[in-house]
Amino acid sequence: MLELDAVTAGYGRATPAVRGATLTVAPGEAVGLLGPSGCGKSTLARVAALLHRPYSGTVRLDGTTVTRWRHRAPREMRTAVGVVFQSPRLAADPRLRLADLIAEPLRATGRRDVVADRVPELAHTVGLGADLLSRRPHEVSDGQLQRACVARALVLEPRWLVCDEMTSMLDASTTAALVAVVESYRREHRAGLLAVSHDPVLLDRWCDRTARWDQVVPAAS
Ligand code: ADP
Repeated sequence: MLELDAVTAGYGRATPAVRGATLTVAPGEAVGLLGPSGCGKSTLARVAALLHRPYSGTVRLDGTTVTRWRHRAPREMRTAVGVVFQSPRLAADPRLRLADLIAEPLRATGRRDVVADRVPELAHTVGLGADLLSRRPHEVSDGQLQRACVARALVLEPRWLVCDEMTSMLDASTTAALVAVVESYRREHRAGLLAVSHDPVLLDRWCDRTARWDQVVPAAS
């Protein structure tokens, strides 16, 4: 299970962006998180992906309470969660060729031996032609770069996926293709998904159930 219990999180001295959020995703389950822009969804998604330390509350991953975030989190916890963000331009290192972008998590975890097999295989899965793999981010479209980011998120075969507005910048056909990739991975690996969006139609089509933001955080007292 991926469990968020009474999570309060924010930035510096400002009022917390998220107060008391509670949300659970079961293995193999696709859960949508729906809310208007600015309500705190991304902040909560980053907490769930172990990228942002909350002020208070509990995050449990497969029964283990998370006590460290970002690079301080134990590797087996970090690699259990794959993340895809809204903007591939902000998420991708502009210096890396797409092949190296996809391979980066393998290299960072000492799995160089499988790079030659896994990268072309995943590129094919996400619909990236071999000719694009030698290009750098500024030489491809947003949709092509997001395909590479999805491949990178899947390359370590995570048990959990957090997709934060993954398709908001994409056209309808790329959106459909990437949702299909995530769904087929999820079914094959029985991975749990947290899909964050402001779009109820997308989440309704994509997810087993959708939690509205006002169901996730308690009403302000
Ligand atoms: P959503 O994903 O629902 O649009 P966010 O979690 O991105 O919401 O933002 C929630 C609040 O936190 C907003 O008021 C936003 O301005 C603020 N915020 C988000 N990221 C940062 C940051 N890095 N530093 C300071 N404030 C931030």
